[in-house]
Amino acid sequence: MRIFNFSAGPAVLPTAVLEQVRDELLDWHGTGMGIMEMSHRGKDFTGVINEAEADLRELMGIPSNYRVLFLQGGATQQFAQIPMNLLDGRSADYIVTGSWSKKAYKEAQHVGPVRLAGSTEGDGFSRLPAASELRLDPGAAYLHVCTNETIHGVEMFDLPTVPAGVPLVADMSSHILSRPMDVSRYGLIYAGAQKNIGPAGLVLVIVREDLLGKASASTPSVMNYATMADNGSMLNTPPTFGIYLAGLIFKNLKSQGGLAAVEQANIAKAKRVYDAIEGSGGFYRNPVAADCRSRMNVPFTLSNPALDAEFLAEAAERKLAGLKGHKSVGGMRASIYNAMSFEGVDALVALMQDFAARKA
Ligand SMILES: *Cc1c(COP(=O)(O)O)cnc(C)c1O
Repeated sequence: MRIFNFSAGPAVLPTAVLEQVRDELLDWHGTGMGIMEMSHRGKDFTGVINEAEADLRELMGIPSNYRVLFLQGGATQQFAQIPMNLLDGRSADYIVTGSWSKKAYKEAQHVGPVRLAGSTEGDGFSRLPAASELRLDPGAAYLHVCTNETIHGVEMFDLPTVPAGVPLVADMSSHILSRPMDVSRYGLIYAGAQKNIGPAGLVLVIVREDLLGKASASTPSVMNYATMADNGSMLNTPPTFGIYLAGLIFKNLKSQGGLAAVEQANIAKAKRVYDAIEGSGGFYRNPVAADCRSRMNVPFTLSNPALDAEFLAEAAERKLAGLKGHKSVGGMRASIYNAMSFEGVDALVALMQDFAARKA
């Protein structure tokens, strides 16, 4: 039996997709073997990766002057790979709005000169910086942001005004495919798969072509975007199973009506959880400013933290898993990615309301 999995990642995947994977695991399309067992150079797998890319391009409306790379090493490897490929002898700007963009900023310091262009750490990462608080370098090689902070629950709905000619680089790991995004506003988008795309082990990079070919001479070939792009993400063996599963997720999202339809569902799901918090008379609390509350990751605390363990125990009884908050924030976190059903959200809201009625 499947339970409701609110884990921040690896996270819930659509049951229908997993059932298809199960059915195809031993014999994919009559080939007598599963995708995991197949040569990445053969026509069957080449078809799978090409179709995954085509479906992703259609879903996100990726312009033709962008390359799609299916890579490994997670979003964390991108924290280093981005400066290796894009710094090009200059420095880069970072806006720090939560734990993940802070990690990206710190990791980039191993590679080259980076500047802190703005930070909301002083306010506990509970809001986004105003334009007047940013000190952007018009000569930066790029400006890095994390458009959804998975731990702090802060989502960027309006992008900062970027100085002309400075490419915007975005870590979208935990909200890619949750709503339409205008890809043309970014120089590079990256996302680890295990939040909203598929299994861990795959990271997606969408990069504008003119940013390729600037990697420092010391960049290893598997970490060089231009080399990977020239080889169709197959300089070496790619994460074939993850690419296959991601492709099925893309088809599943298309069948739901694409990202505009997915967004409407995500708005409605998030509203139910935030309404439960706001309607609790202070029993539950989310510290994030209303204009940047994440639709994917909803951290909340109980007014009496001594009740946390009891809340989690009752959640487990009701088959609600993965609600314990990140240790740096405490309390709870409900990650309500694309694959979380309304049924799951309603089960969580029912628990929150029952629990508060009994304990308040
Ligand atoms: C999970 C996450 C990461 C780290 O991903 P890994 O695949 O573990 O490297 C980076 N950024 C964001 C926004 C995340 O949610």
